[in-house]
Amino acid sequence: MSNESSFDQARAVIPGGVNSPVRAFRSVGGAPRFMVSGRGPYITDVEGREYVDLVCSWGPLLLGHAHPAVLDAVHEAVSRGLSFGASTPAETELAEAVIARLAPVTRPLPERAAAPTAPDDVPDPARSPSAAPVVEQLRLVSTGTEATMTAIRLARGVTGRPLVVKFSGHYHGHSDGLLADAGSGLATLALPASAGVPAEIAGQTLVLPYNDREAVRAAFAEFGPRIAAIIVEAAAANMGVVAPSPGFNAFLADTAHAAGALLIVDEVLTGFRVSPAGWLGLEPVAADIVTFGKVIGGGMPLAGLGARREIMEHLAPIGPVYQAGTLSGNPVAVAAGLATLRAADAAVYARVDEVAGVISSAVSEALDAAGVEHAVSRAGNLFSIQFQSTLATDYAGAQRQDAFRYGPFFHAMLDAGVSLPPSAYEAWFVSAAHDDAAVSRVLEALPAAARAAASAQP
Ligand SMILES: *Cc1c(COP(=O)(O)O)cnc(C)c1O
Repeated sequence: MSNESSFDQARAVIPGGVNSPVRAFRSVGGAPRFMVSGRGPYITDVEGREYVDLVCSWGPLLLGHAHPAVLDAVHEAVSRGLSFGASTPAETELAEAVIARLAPVTRPLPERAAAPTAPDDVPDPARSPSAAPVVEQLRLVSTGTEATMTAIRLARGVTGRPLVVKFSGHYHGHSDGLLADAGSGLATLALPASAGVPAEIAGQTLVLPYNDREAVRAAFAEFGPRIAAIIVEAAAANMGVVAPSPGFNAFLADTAHAAGALLIVDEVLTGFRVSPAGWLGLEPVAADIVTFGKVIGGGMPLAGLGARREIMEHLAPIGPVYQAGTLSGNPVAVAAGLATLRAADAAVYARVDEVAGVISSAVSEALDAAGVEHAVSRAGNLFSIQFQSTLATDYAGAQRQDAFRYGPFFHAMLDAGVSLPPSAYEAWFVSAAHDDAAVSRVLEALPAAARAAASAQP
Protein backbone atom coordinates (compact mmCIF):
# COMPACT_ATOMS: atom_id res chain seq x y z
CA MET A 1 0.00 0.00 0.00
CA SER A 2 1.30 3.46 -0.84
CA ASN A 3 0.28 6.91 0.26
CA GLU A 4 -0.84 7.65 -3.31
CA SER A 5 -3.05 4.57 -3.55
CA SER A 6 -4.45 5.13 -0.06
CA PHE A 7 -5.34 8.66 -1.03
CA ASP A 8 -6.95 7.54 -4.30
CA GLN A 9 -9.00 4.93 -2.49
CA ALA A 10 -9.99 7.42 0.20
CA ARG A 11 -11.03 10.05 -2.31
CA ALA A 12 -13.60 7.67 -3.78
CA VAL A 13 -15.51 7.39 -0.52
CA ILE A 14 -14.48 10.37 1.63
CA PRO A 15 -14.81 13.95 0.33
CA GLY A 16 -11.32 15.10 -0.60
CA GLY A 17 -9.99 11.88 0.93
CA VAL A 18 -9.86 13.43 4.40
CA ASN A 19 -12.08 13.83 7.43
CA SER A 20 -10.78 17.31 8.26
CA PRO A 21 -9.76 19.73 5.49
CA VAL A 22 -6.30 20.80 6.65
CA ARG A 23 -5.06 17.20 6.41
CA ALA A 24 -5.48 17.35 2.63
CA PHE A 25 -2.17 19.01 1.64
CA ARG A 26 -4.13 21.44 -0.56
CA SER A 27 -1.83 24.34 0.24
CA VAL A 28 1.44 22.42 -0.04
CA GLY A 29 0.54 20.00 -2.87
CA GLY A 30 1.05 16.25 -3.14
CA ALA A 31 -0.68 13.29 -1.55
CA PRO A 32 -1.20 13.39 2.18
CA ARG A 33 0.61 10.72 4.17
CA PHE A 34 -1.66 8.00 5.51
CA MET A 35 -0.51 7.04 8.98
CA VAL A 36 -0.59 3.69 10.69
CA SER A 37 1.18 4.19 14.01
CA GLY A 38 2.88 6.64 16.32
CA ARG A 39 5.35 6.21 19.15
CA GLY A 40 6.95 8.99 21.17
CA PRO A 41 8.01 11.75 18.77
CA TYR A 42 7.63 9.56 15.66
CA ILE A 43 4.80 8.71 13.33
CA THR A 44 4.86 6.00 10.62
CA ASP A 45 2.98 5.99 7.32
CA VAL A 46 1.52 3.16 5.22
CA GLU A 47 4.83 2.87 3.31
CA GLY A 48 6.68 2.21 6.54
CA ARG A 49 8.40 5.61 6.50
CA GLU A 50 8.95 7.16 9.89
CA TYR A 51 8.75 10.91 10.51
CA VAL A 52 9.55 13.13 13.44
CA ASP A 53 6.05 14.46 14.12
CA LEU A 54 5.77 18.23 14.54
CA VAL A 55 1.98 18.15 14.25
CA CYS A 56 1.23 16.00 17.31
CA SER A 57 -2.39 15.54 16.22
CA TRP A 58 -2.64 19.37 16.04
CA GLY A 59 -1.90 19.80 19.72
CA PRO A 60 -3.37 17.05 21.92
CA LEU A 61 -0.21 14.93 22.17
CA LEU A 62 1.68 16.92 24.79
CA LEU A 63 3.34 13.67 25.91
CA GLY A 64 3.95 12.33 22.40
CA HIS A 65 2.39 9.30 20.75
CA ALA A 66 1.34 6.22 22.70
CA HIS A 67 2.61 7.41 26.07
CA PRO A 68 2.72 4.30 28.30
CA ALA A 69 0.75 5.85 31.20
CA VAL A 70 -1.96 7.08 28.84
CA LEU A 71 -2.20 3.73 27.03
CA ASP A 72 -2.39 1.87 30.34
CA ALA A 73 -5.20 4.13 31.53
CA VAL A 74 -7.07 3.68 28.26
CA HIS A 75 -6.62 -0.11 28.26
CA GLU A 76 -7.83 -0.28 31.83
CA ALA A 77 -10.90 1.85 31.00
CA VAL A 78 -11.66 -0.13 27.83
CA SER A 79 -11.61 -3.36 29.80
CA ARG A 80 -14.51 -2.02 31.88
CA GLY A 81 -16.69 -1.05 28.91
CA LEU A 82 -16.76 1.76 26.37
CA SER A 83 -19.68 3.96 27.35
CA PHE A 84 -22.36 3.93 29.98
CA GLY A 85 -24.57 6.93 29.23
CA ALA A 86 -24.39 7.60 32.94
CA SER A 87 -22.02 9.51 35.19
CA THR A 88 -18.69 8.02 36.23
CA PRO A 89 -16.44 9.02 39.15
CA ALA A 90 -13.56 9.77 36.76
CA GLU A 91 -15.49 12.69 35.25
CA THR A 92 -15.52 14.33 38.68
CA GLU A 93 -11.80 13.63 39.06
CA LEU A 94 -11.09 15.28 35.72
CA ALA A 95 -13.21 18.32 36.64
CA GLU A 96 -11.31 18.55 39.94
CA ALA A 97 -7.96 18.28 38.15
CA VAL A 98 -8.87 21.06 35.72
CA ILE A 99 -10.24 23.31 38.45
CA ALA A 100 -7.09 22.73 40.55
CA ARG A 101 -4.84 23.64 37.62
CA LEU A 102 -6.84 26.80 36.92
CA ALA A 103 -7.06 27.79 40.60
CA PRO A 104 -4.37 30.51 40.34
CA VAL A 105 -6.43 32.26 37.65
CA THR A 106 -8.85 34.52 39.47
CA ARG A 107 -11.24 37.39 38.90
CA PRO A 108 -11.79 40.27 41.30
CA LEU A 109 -14.98 40.10 43.33
CA PRO A 110 -17.15 43.18 43.61
CA GLU A 111 -16.44 44.93 46.89
CA ARG A 112 -18.98 44.13 49.56
CA ALA A 113 -20.54 46.98 51.50
CA ALA A 114 -17.95 47.35 54.25
CA ALA A 115 -19.18 46.21 57.64
CA PRO A 116 -18.22 48.56 60.45
CA THR A 117 -14.80 47.45 61.68
CA ALA A 118 -12.52 48.42 64.50
CA PRO A 119 -9.67 50.64 63.28
CA ASP A 120 -7.05 47.98 64.02
CA ASP A 121 -9.00 45.20 62.28
CA VAL A 122 -6.78 43.28 59.88
CA PRO A 123 -8.74 42.13 56.82
CA ASP A 124 -8.91 38.35 56.75
CA PRO A 125 -8.54 37.26 53.13
CA ALA A 126 -10.05 33.84 53.90
CA ARG A 127 -13.16 35.44 55.43
CA SER A 128 -13.74 38.18 52.84
CA PRO A 129 -12.06 37.14 49.60
CA SER A 130 -11.37 39.85 47.07
CA ALA A 131 -10.86 37.37 44.25
CA ALA A 132 -12.41 34.06 43.21
CA PRO A 133 -11.39 31.37 40.75
CA VAL A 134 -12.38 31.86 37.13
CA VAL A 135 -13.18 28.14 36.80
CA GLU A 136 -15.31 26.63 39.57
CA GLN A 137 -17.19 24.06 37.48
CA LEU A 138 -16.57 22.16 34.28
CA ARG A 139 -18.88 20.60 31.71
CA LEU A 140 -17.35 17.96 29.43
CA VAL A 141 -18.18 17.66 25.74
CA SER A 142 -16.50 15.75 22.92
CA THR A 143 -14.95 18.40 20.64
CA GLY A 144 -13.60 21.92 20.83
CA THR A 145 -16.32 22.95 18.40
CA GLU A 146 -18.96 21.88 20.91
CA ALA A 147 -17.12 23.63 23.74
CA THR A 148 -17.08 27.03 22.02
CA MET A 149 -20.59 26.59 20.61
CA THR A 150 -21.87 25.86 24.11
CA ALA A 151 -19.85 28.71 25.62
CA ILE A 152 -21.54 31.13 23.24
CA ARG A 153 -25.02 29.77 23.91
CA LEU A 154 -24.28 30.05 27.60
CA ALA A 155 -23.06 33.65 27.27
CA ARG A 156 -26.20 34.53 25.35
CA GLY A 157 -28.35 32.75 27.92
CA VAL A 158 -26.67 34.55 30.82
CA THR A 159 -26.77 38.02 29.27
CA GLY A 160 -29.95 37.76 27.21
CA ARG A 161 -28.06 39.41 24.34
CA PRO A 162 -27.52 38.19 20.77
CA LEU A 163 -24.17 39.41 19.40
CA VAL A 164 -20.70 37.88 19.65
CA VAL A 165 -17.37 39.56 18.91
CA LYS A 166 -14.61 37.42 17.41
CA PHE A 167 -11.29 38.17 15.75
CA SER A 168 -10.21 37.65 12.18
CA GLY A 169 -7.99 34.59 11.76
CA HIS A 170 -9.09 33.11 15.09
CA TYR A 171 -10.54 29.63 14.83
CA HIS A 172 -13.07 28.39 17.33
CA GLY A 173 -14.32 25.29 15.57
CA HIS A 174 -16.90 25.03 12.81
CA SER A 175 -20.24 25.99 14.35
CA ASP A 176 -22.28 28.30 12.11
CA GLY A 177 -21.97 31.55 14.01
CA LEU A 178 -18.20 31.26 14.31
CA LEU A 179 -17.69 30.69 10.58
CA ALA A 180 -17.98 34.40 9.90
CA ASP A 181 -15.81 36.85 7.99
CA ALA A 182 -15.40 40.52 8.69
CA GLY A 183 -17.92 42.72 6.91
CA SER A 184 -16.93 45.71 4.79
CA GLY A 185 -15.77 47.91 7.64
CA LEU A 186 -15.05 48.00 11.32
CA ALA A 187 -18.11 47.70 13.52
CA THR A 188 -20.21 46.07 10.82
CA LEU A 189 -21.87 42.71 11.25
CA ALA A 190 -20.17 39.73 9.64
CA LEU A 191 -20.78 37.78 6.44
CA PRO A 192 -20.81 33.99 6.16
CA ALA A 193 -17.31 32.49 5.85
CA SER A 194 -18.69 29.20 4.53
CA ALA A 195 -21.44 28.15 2.17
CA GLY A 196 -24.37 26.88 4.20
CA VAL A 197 -24.10 29.54 6.91
CA PRO A 198 -27.16 31.83 6.68
CA ALA A 199 -26.36 35.54 6.54
CA GLU A 200 -28.76 35.97 9.47
CA ILE A 201 -26.54 33.75 11.60
CA ALA A 202 -23.21 35.23 10.49
CA GLY A 203 -24.81 38.63 11.10
CA GLN A 204 -24.94 37.87 14.83
CA THR A 205 -21.13 37.95 14.88
CA LEU A 206 -18.79 40.96 14.69
CA VAL A 207 -15.37 40.08 13.29
CA LEU A 208 -12.57 42.47 14.25
CA PRO A 209 -8.85 42.68 13.51
CA TYR A 210 -6.79 41.01 16.26
CA ASN A 211 -4.81 43.14 18.68
CA ASP A 212 -6.75 46.22 17.55
CA ARG A 213 -8.10 48.00 20.62
CA GLU A 214 -9.61 50.81 18.57
CA ALA A 215 -11.72 48.31 16.61
CA VAL A 216 -12.94 46.75 19.84
CA ARG A 217 -13.86 50.17 21.26
CA ALA A 218 -15.68 51.09 18.05
CA ALA A 219 -17.65 47.83 18.06
CA PHE A 220 -18.71 48.35 21.66
CA ALA A 221 -19.58 51.99 21.02
CA GLU A 222 -21.89 50.90 18.22
CA PHE A 223 -23.32 47.62 19.56
CA GLY A 224 -22.33 47.43 23.26
CA PRO A 225 -25.75 46.81 24.83
CA ARG A 226 -26.43 43.98 22.33
CA ILE A 227 -23.07 42.17 22.77
CA ALA A 228 -23.24 38.95 24.79
CA ALA A 229 -19.56 38.07 24.64
CA ILE A 230 -16.14 38.46 23.15
CA ILE A 231 -14.55 35.15 22.17
CA VAL A 232 -10.79 35.15 21.69
CA GLU A 233 -8.10 32.51 21.33
CA ALA A 234 -6.02 32.85 24.48
CA ALA A 235 -3.09 33.28 22.10
CA ALA A 236 -3.90 33.02 18.42
CA ALA A 237 -2.46 29.86 16.87
CA ASN A 238 -4.75 28.99 13.99
CA MET A 239 -3.33 31.58 11.54
CA GLY A 240 0.15 30.51 12.42
CA VAL A 241 1.05 31.76 15.86
CA VAL A 242 0.21 35.40 16.59
CA ALA A 243 0.64 36.33 20.23
CA PRO A 244 -1.72 38.77 21.92
CA SER A 245 -0.08 42.17 22.37
CA PRO A 246 0.78 42.86 26.03
CA GLY A 247 -2.39 43.62 27.96
CA PHE A 248 -4.74 42.90 25.06
CA ASN A 249 -6.58 40.04 26.77
CA ALA A 250 -7.00 42.08 29.95
CA PHE A 251 -8.28 44.97 27.85
CA LEU A 252 -10.87 42.62 26.37
CA ALA A 253 -11.98 41.53 29.83
CA ASP A 254 -12.31 45.15 30.97
CA THR A 255 -14.13 46.24 27.83
CA ALA A 256 -16.56 43.32 27.94
CA HIS A 257 -17.26 43.76 31.63
CA ALA A 258 -17.78 47.52 31.36
CA ALA A 259 -20.51 46.79 28.81
CA GLY A 260 -22.11 43.95 30.77
CA ALA A 261 -20.77 41.34 28.34
CA LEU A 262 -18.71 38.22 29.04
CA LEU A 263 -15.21 37.26 27.91
CA ILE A 264 -14.83 33.72 26.55
CA VAL A 265 -11.16 32.71 26.45
CA ASP A 266 -10.71 29.82 24.03
CA GLU A 267 -7.95 27.61 25.41
CA VAL A 268 -8.82 24.60 23.23
CA LEU A 269 -5.35 24.75 21.68
CA THR A 270 -3.29 26.48 24.38
CA GLY A 271 -4.92 24.87 27.44
CA PHE A 272 -2.57 22.58 29.40
CA ARG A 273 -0.04 22.91 26.57
CA VAL A 274 1.71 26.23 27.13
CA SER A 275 1.71 25.86 30.92
CA PRO A 276 -0.02 23.73 33.57
CA ALA A 277 -2.89 26.24 33.56
CA GLY A 278 -2.66 27.04 29.85
CA TRP A 279 -2.21 30.57 28.53
CA LEU A 280 -4.16 31.95 31.48
CA GLY A 281 -1.42 30.47 33.66
CA LEU A 282 1.10 32.68 31.86
CA GLU A 283 -1.17 35.71 31.59
CA PRO A 284 -4.07 35.56 34.04
CA VAL A 285 -7.10 37.59 33.03
CA ALA A 286 -10.60 37.73 34.46
CA ALA A 287 -12.17 35.42 31.88
CA ASP A 288 -15.81 34.53 32.35
CA ILE A 289 -15.88 31.27 30.38
CA VAL A 290 -12.86 29.18 29.39
CA THR A 291 -13.00 26.45 26.74
CA PHE A 292 -10.72 23.42 26.65
CA GLY A 293 -9.97 20.69 24.13
CA LYS A 294 -7.00 18.93 22.57
CA VAL A 295 -4.61 18.22 25.49
CA ILE A 296 -7.53 17.70 27.91
CA GLY A 297 -8.31 14.49 26.01
CA GLY A 298 -4.73 13.40 25.45
CA GLY A 299 -5.60 12.25 21.92
CA MET A 300 -9.17 11.07 22.55
CA PRO A 301 -12.28 13.10 21.63
CA LEU A 302 -12.80 15.20 24.73
CA ALA A 303 -13.28 18.90 25.39
CA GLY A 304 -14.95 21.08 27.97
CA LEU A 305 -15.94 24.48 29.19
CA GLY A 306 -15.51 25.98 32.62
CA ALA A 307 -16.63 29.08 34.44
CA ARG A 308 -17.69 30.27 37.86
CA ARG A 309 -20.60 28.41 39.39
CA GLU A 310 -23.21 31.15 38.85
CA ILE A 311 -22.52 31.04 35.10
CA MET A 312 -22.25 27.24 34.81
CA GLU A 313 -25.52 26.76 36.67
CA HIS A 314 -27.33 28.35 33.74
CA LEU A 315 -26.72 25.04 31.94
CA ALA A 316 -29.29 22.24 31.89
CA PRO A 317 -30.35 20.41 34.03
CA ILE A 318 -30.18 23.27 36.57
CA GLY A 319 -30.61 26.22 34.25
CA PRO A 320 -32.43 27.10 31.04
CA VAL A 321 -29.47 26.84 28.61
CA TYR A 322 -29.72 23.44 26.93
CA GLN A 323 -26.66 21.31 26.23
CA ALA A 324 -26.21 17.54 26.07
CA GLY A 325 -24.15 14.73 24.53
CA THR A 326 -24.53 10.94 24.23
CA LEU A 327 -20.78 10.41 24.56
CA SER A 328 -19.98 13.48 26.69
CA GLY A 329 -17.48 12.56 29.39
CA ASN A 330 -16.89 9.20 27.71
CA PRO A 331 -15.03 6.98 30.19
CA VAL A 332 -12.23 6.00 27.80
CA ALA A 333 -11.64 9.60 26.73
CA VAL A 334 -11.72 10.79 30.33
CA ALA A 335 -9.17 8.13 31.27
CA ALA A 336 -6.84 9.37 28.54
CA GLY A 337 -7.31 12.98 29.60
CA LEU A 338 -6.78 12.32 33.29
CA ALA A 339 -3.67 10.22 32.64
CA THR A 340 -2.30 12.98 30.39
CA LEU A 341 -2.87 15.72 32.95
CA ARG A 342 -1.42 13.57 35.74
CA ALA A 343 1.73 12.87 33.72
CA ALA A 344 2.11 16.49 32.60
CA ASP A 345 4.38 17.67 35.41
CA ALA A 346 6.84 20.54 35.54
CA ALA A 347 9.48 18.47 33.73
CA VAL A 348 7.10 17.92 30.82
CA TYR A 349 6.48 21.65 30.42
CA ALA A 350 10.19 22.40 30.77
CA ARG A 351 11.01 19.90 28.02
CA VAL A 352 8.29 21.15 25.66
CA ASP A 353 9.50 24.72 26.18
CA GLU A 354 13.11 23.66 25.58
CA VAL A 355 12.37 21.70 22.40
CA ALA A 356 10.27 24.58 21.05
CA GLY A 357 13.16 26.96 21.72
CA VAL A 358 15.80 24.74 20.13
CA ILE A 359 13.78 23.96 16.99
CA SER A 360 12.49 27.49 16.43
CA SER A 361 16.00 28.97 16.79
CA ALA A 362 17.43 26.37 14.45
CA VAL A 363 14.79 27.08 11.80
CA SER A 364 15.64 30.75 12.04
CA GLU A 365 19.39 30.10 11.70
CA ALA A 366 18.87 27.84 8.69
CA LEU A 367 16.65 30.42 6.98
CA ASP A 368 19.18 33.16 7.76
CA ALA A 369 21.97 31.06 6.26
CA ALA A 370 19.89 30.56 3.11
CA GLY A 371 19.05 34.28 2.94
CA VAL A 372 15.30 33.82 3.43
CA GLU A 373 13.39 36.72 4.98
CA HIS A 374 11.46 35.41 7.92
CA ALA A 375 10.34 35.96 11.48
CA VAL A 376 9.75 33.37 14.18
CA SER A 377 6.41 33.90 15.81
CA ARG A 378 6.16 32.58 19.36
CA ALA A 379 3.53 32.44 22.07
CA GLY A 380 4.77 30.42 25.00
CA ASN A 381 5.97 27.10 23.61
CA LEU A 382 3.88 27.52 20.46
CA PHE A 383 5.63 28.78 17.39
CA SER A 384 5.42 29.10 13.64
CA ILE A 385 7.48 30.73 10.92
CA GLN A 386 6.34 33.75 8.93
CA PHE A 387 8.09 34.29 5.62
CA GLN A 388 8.41 38.03 6.10
CA SER A 389 10.82 40.12 8.14
CA THR A 390 8.23 41.93 10.28
CA LEU A 391 6.15 39.85 12.63
CA ALA A 392 2.43 40.17 11.94
CA THR A 393 0.10 41.11 14.76
CA ASP A 394 -3.12 40.22 12.96
CA TYR A 395 -4.52 38.06 10.16
CA ALA A 396 -4.08 40.64 7.39
CA GLY A 397 -0.44 40.98 8.41
CA ALA A 398 0.09 37.22 8.53
CA GLN A 399 -1.31 36.92 5.01
CA ARG A 400 1.24 39.38 3.64
CA GLN A 401 4.05 36.83 4.03
CA ASP A 402 5.63 34.92 1.13
CA ALA A 403 3.49 31.86 1.83
CA PHE A 404 4.63 30.30 -1.48
CA ARG A 405 7.92 29.49 0.23
CA TYR A 406 6.24 27.14 2.67
CA GLY A 407 5.29 24.31 0.23
CA PRO A 408 8.88 23.60 -0.93
CA PHE A 409 10.14 23.99 2.65
CA PHE A 410 7.47 21.59 3.93
CA HIS A 411 8.20 18.95 1.24
CA ALA A 412 11.95 19.11 1.79
CA MET A 413 11.36 18.47 5.48
CA LEU A 414 8.92 15.65 4.72
CA ASP A 415 11.42 14.02 2.34
CA ALA A 416 13.98 14.18 5.13
CA GLY A 417 11.58 12.51 7.56
CA VAL A 418 10.03 15.45 9.40
CA SER A 419 6.27 15.95 9.35
CA LEU A 420 5.28 19.62 9.64
CA PRO A 421 1.75 21.04 9.53
CA PRO A 422 0.79 21.12 5.83
CA SER A 423 0.08 24.86 5.84
CA ALA A 424 2.03 28.04 6.50
CA TYR A 425 -0.87 29.16 8.68
CA GLU A 426 -0.59 26.58 11.42
CA ALA A 427 1.41 26.34 14.62
CA TRP A 428 4.15 23.70 14.94
CA PHE A 429 3.62 21.30 17.83
CA VAL A 430 6.27 19.51 19.85
CA SER A 431 5.94 17.13 22.78
CA ALA A 432 7.87 16.12 25.85
CA ALA A 433 8.70 12.89 23.98
CA HIS A 434 10.81 14.83 21.48
CA ASP A 435 14.18 13.61 22.70
CA ASP A 436 17.58 14.76 21.49
CA ALA A 437 17.67 12.14 18.72
CA ALA A 438 14.36 13.37 17.30
CA VAL A 439 15.40 17.01 17.61
CA SER A 440 18.70 16.22 15.80
CA ARG A 441 16.78 14.76 12.90
CA VAL A 442 14.82 17.98 12.62
CA LEU A 443 17.98 20.11 12.78
CA GLU A 444 19.73 18.01 10.13
CA ALA A 445 16.80 18.44 7.75
CA LEU A 446 16.66 22.23 8.05
CA PRO A 447 19.49 23.50 5.80
CA ALA A 448 18.18 21.76 2.65
CA ALA A 449 14.62 22.84 3.46
CA ALA A 450 15.77 26.44 3.93
CA ARG A 451 17.48 26.32 0.52
CA ALA A 452 14.23 24.97 -0.99
CA ALA A 453 12.37 27.91 0.57
CA ALA A 454 15.00 30.30 -0.83
CA SER A 455 14.57 29.05 -4.39
CA ALA A 456 10.75 28.85 -4.22
CA GLN A 457 8.90 30.72 -6.96
CA PRO A 458 5.64 32.60 -6.29
C1 LIG B 1 -8.93 23.06 17.46
C2 LIG B 1 -9.61 24.28 17.97
C3 LIG B 1 -11.01 24.33 18.13
C4 LIG B 1 -11.92 23.26 17.65
O1 LIG B 1 -11.71 22.04 18.28
P1 LIG B 1 -12.22 20.68 17.57
O2 LIG B 1 -11.98 19.64 18.60
O3 LIG B 1 -11.39 20.54 16.33
O4 LIG B 1 -13.67 20.88 17.25
C5 LIG B 1 -11.54 25.44 18.76
N1 LIG B 1 -10.76 26.45 19.17
C6 LIG B 1 -9.43 26.45 18.99
C7 LIG B 1 -8.61 27.59 19.50
C8 LIG B 1 -8.81 25.38 18.38
O5 LIG B 1 -7.49 25.40 18.18
